[in-house]
Amino acid sequence: MEKPKPKVTPIVVPDDKLQFLKKKLDNPDLALDIKRDLVKEIMGGECAVCKGMPTKIASYDMDGITLIEKYCDRCFEESNSKK
Ligand SMILES: [Zn+2]
Repeated sequence: MEKPKPKVTPIVVPDDKLQFLKKKLDNPDLALDIKRDLVKEIMGGECAVCKGMPTKIASYDMDGITLIEKYCDRCFEESNSKK
């Protein structure tokens, strides 16, 4: 199904939480699934494409149903530049 143009809002997270999360993600000793759980917990979800840390929320209005997807900067730009 063709997606309409999304309404995009940035994900706002307190700076201390963001720094905490970045430090965890930079830690090579921490398992990937633990990092993913932390991303989900702190950012409220993961990037719909790469499962990384999302920074944006895109909401699509599909005939009255709102579809919400989260993206990181990179995947958001890639998904928009395709069109
Ligand atoms: Zn991504």
